[in-house]
Amino acid sequence: MDSVDVVIVGAGMSGIGAAYYLRREHPGRSYAILEARDASGGTWDLFRYPGVRSDSDLHTFGYEFRPWRSEVAIADGPEILSYLRETAAEYGIDRSIRYHRRVVAASWSSSSARWTVSVEDTNTGERSAVTCNWILCAAGYYRYDCGYTPSFDGLERFRGAVVHPQHWPADLDYAGKRVVVIGSGATAVTLVPAMAATAGQVTMVQRTPSYVLPLPSKDKLARRLARLLGEERGFALTRRLNIFRQHALWRFCQRYPAAARRLIRSLNVKMLPYGYPVDEHFNPPYNPWDQRMCIAADADLFRAIRSGKADVVTGHIETFTENGVLMKSGRELPADVIVTATGLNVQPIGGMSLTVDGQPADFADTVTFKGMMASGVPNFAYVFGYTNASWTLKVGVLCEHLCRLLSYMDARGYDTAVPVADPGMPTRPFLDFGAGYIKRSLGQMPRQGSRAPWLRPPTYAGDVRLLRRNVADPELKFSASRG
Ligand SMILES: Cc1cc2nc3c(=O)[nH]c(=O)nc-3n(C[C@H](O)[C@H](O)[C@H](O)COP(=O)(O)OP(=O)(O)OC[C@H]3O[C@@H](n4cnc5c(N)ncnc54)[C@H](O)[C@@H]3O)c2cc1C
Repeated sequence: MDSVDVVIVGAGMSGIGAAYYLRREHPGRSYAILEARDASGGTWDLFRYPGVRSDSDLHTFGYEFRPWRSEVAIADGPEILSYLRETAAEYGIDRSIRYHRRVVAASWSSSSARWTVSVEDTNTGERSAVTCNWILCAAGYYRYDCGYTPSFDGLERFRGAVVHPQHWPADLDYAGKRVVVIGSGATAVTLVPAMAATAGQVTMVQRTPSYVLPLPSKDKLARRLARLLGEERGFALTRRLNIFRQHALWRFCQRYPAAARRLIRSLNVKMLPYGYPVDEHFNPPYNPWDQRMCIAADADLFRAIRSGKADVVTGHIETFTENGVLMKSGRELPADVIVTATGLNVQPIGGMSLTVDGQPADFADTVTFKGMMASGVPNFAYVFGYTNASWTLKVGVLCEHLCRLLSYMDARGYDTAVPVADPGMPTRPFLDFGAGYIKRSLGQMPRQGSRAPWLRPPTYAGDVRLLRRNVADPELKFSASRG
């Protein structure tokens, strides 16, 4: 049977990053990245809708070990994808990616201290197995095969095209057409101005407004620092500054929600036409950062609204009609194309099932250990990034911790590490975040406990405090199965 030391599940931002740290810190360990699709890049290969981009700056969303060199800090999907693939090629990680390999299950044996990973060939449906000592699950957080669409009354009646951003048809022609985009999250906020450039008219239909913060897409200070200090040191300083800025903004919103709301509102007012109903369309009922904040790069959404090519309607949809959408208010929105930017279907650990010594280990029944391991599941780590900062920050701090844990175990001759939680410990949901897709999925997620290390720190700063400490912990039990 095929055998490696570490199986990494997924060749997206997290999997490629994890492979880098593993190679750097444990060059003697063998590893394979098992990727279900025929391409690397994950999210940044899958999503092809017009204008697809990050809303984090790439100085923090890119890897710490590989400077982001473009002056565009809020980058588009193709640029991010090139960066990921160049990283994989530069460090020889691409040679370890096995495509069309979906991990469907993993079964742990304590007597051999090995996982047997069941893999499906997504071309042929054939099953095979790989054994390993550790699994690092970097499978993202959502289903790739279908995006989330709530049930809309009358959907089948609509005579135009209905498109979900996760499955964008390459040949969709919307030039000069009337487009309705349903949704108010980052995807809708990106799509509307991008489509407005060629569409006849784009209307964003939202049930509830989001906070939309205009930010410049270029980071002039980053370029200046790179010129002054050199590429590497300039990037390192920009990254630190941006981590600080992201955190300070989030903190400010948490501590002073009313002031944050006023500040964002005043920025919106400045960008919108005189007399625009700002409170109706841009003043959410929840506080800033209770849900992920949307970014309008270079104020593109506001510019599209000012130009008259885009508008926003806030309210409930009654039904789809033959010609568009009818709102509960009675207003009809004619459309040739309807885009359902209604979100993702969350799927933790790539949908794989786990078994420990013959007993099923339901991921949802576990308690998170340091936000990266699961109670009762040996030698298994997973990446779940931040909702309030760049996901990749988590990849770095988590992988460094895992590599130190492996070194600690090597030095003492251990081959097994399992977090053991007190069954009486009170638990609470994995995430405290208001976004619909998170609320819908909490039942599939692990729980967190009431104290460290059974917590998932919600911020990078919290993770730095937790994960940069000693790896040994009385509640992480080590053993040596091979004596
Ligand atoms: C449109 C969009 C924009 C985003 N913008 C930002 C942003 O600006 N900032 C930010 O921090 N986050 C953003 N995110 C969140 C984003 O998904 C992550 O930041 C990051 O790309 C996640 O990388 P990942 O490698 O963990 O997961 P993914 O990119 O989802 O990659 C997971 C990989 O694992 C593979 N996989 C899954 N299950 C299995 C399995 N069972 N077996 C084998 N392979 C499997 C998938 O095929 C995929 O290639 C955005 C998300 C979306 C959808």
